Amino acid sequence: METTALLNTDPAIYQLVSGELERQRNCIELIASENFISPAVMEAMGSVLSNKYAEGLPGKRYYGGCHVVDQVETLAIERICELFNCKYANVQAHSGVNANIAAYLACIKPGDTVLGMSLAHGGHLSHGSPVNFSGILYNMISYGLDPETETINMDEVERIAKETRPKMIIVGASAYPRFLDFERFGRIAREVGAYLMADIAHISGLIAAGVHPSAFPYADICTSTTHKTLRGPRGGFLLTNDETLAAKINKAIFPGTQGGPLMHVIAAKAVAFAEALTPEYRVYAAQIVKNAKAMGQGLVEGGLRLVSGGTDNHLCLVDLSSAGITGKEAEELLESLGITANKNAIPFDKLPPAVTSGIRVGTPAMTTRGFDEKDSLLVGQLIARAIYGRDDEAAKQEVATAVQELIAAHPLYPEL
Ligand SMILES: *Cc1c(COP(=O)(O)O)cnc(C)c1O
Repeated sequence: METTALLNTDPAIYQLVSGELERQRNCIELIASENFISPAVMEAMGSVLSNKYAEGLPGKRYYGGCHVVDQVETLAIERICELFNCKYANVQAHSGVNANIAAYLACIKPGDTVLGMSLAHGGHLSHGSPVNFSGILYNMISYGLDPETETINMDEVERIAKETRPKMIIVGASAYPRFLDFERFGRIAREVGAYLMADIAHISGLIAAGVHPSAFPYADICTSTTHKTLRGPRGGFLLTNDETLAAKINKAIFPGTQGGPLMHVIAAKAVAFAEALTPEYRVYAAQIVKNAKAMGQGLVEGGLRLVSGGTDNHLCLVDLSSAGITGKEAEELLESLGITANKNAIPFDKLPPAVTSGIRVGTPAMTTRGFDEKDSLLVGQLIARAIYGRDDEAAKQEVATAVQELIAAHPLYPEL
């Protein structure tokens, strides 16, 4: 790393940033919500746009001097609308949760009933967990997975929706390896008179590239992060095709829940959206899914069970219960061998969330490094070998060596 200003001003932070770069370079990153941004996205994020206050929207700001950042935000909006083939976007949400906060404020009132996917079955904290603002302010009820298929039982979603008449239904998850049936969710929402909110935080890049079914035209409102499969800076956005809802969303972001937008991050979002519009990105997104299937095959060949029996998207949820190891232990074991993954509850998990019986493994980050299906198959096999060979020092050494070979074959950020 050659940022001399940082080195001269603050060697301690410089060392830590360098250390994090080395950590990212030296492990296989399988956290399904992480990715590696391009140097162009990084440059936009580290720019003078951070200095600018721009409360409001392009052309309607509360401060002077916004004519340049107005163009930045307009480009970001135009590009994200093109990417998702929709009419209106707000790109100011500081994160995925902030986008959800704004979506709720725009559509529902405190105390209203909302139906979302259970956190324990793969949903997100912000979809109604009792420790989250969503569960505190709204009457959140949940649907879960079918115990047989370990997929969303749409008949059950319909039954709960008709019984509880929610004002809003949320479709979207953080640890669900299958396609989401937006069409059926849309039908159910219309039948009970609810808004359909699609939280596509994890899969937005797959949808943008056409490798996962689109939430439009079924969803009234779409929320997402920008930093997961979409491979942009850390942030969020909201989409809709409804003009009235678009105005409510804008008000819900500012003045509703945020102050000044992060213009440097919005510039970086615009860069990432332009990247996502390229043919190369479509190839990348398709490769994410191919790699997830190949990694899943390696895991299964190695003797591990995948929740729902496989994957349609960028991640596999691995059930470790028959391997006699907890998610927490597996996470620590893999980290010691150069593989970063996270423990994750499996459906109907008997262990607490801090321990769990599973791990979640995703391919967006390693696919950015250039891993192909052959590499991904091997990664799956290595995980299984590590887990079953955890008491065998020679087996573990073999896995660690194979991990280092894979990393060396696919260097990360060689330009930094
Ligand atoms: C990651 C995620 C979020 C939250 O995004 P943050 O940027 O961490 O706030 C929201 N919803 C879903 C489904 C997610 O997976």
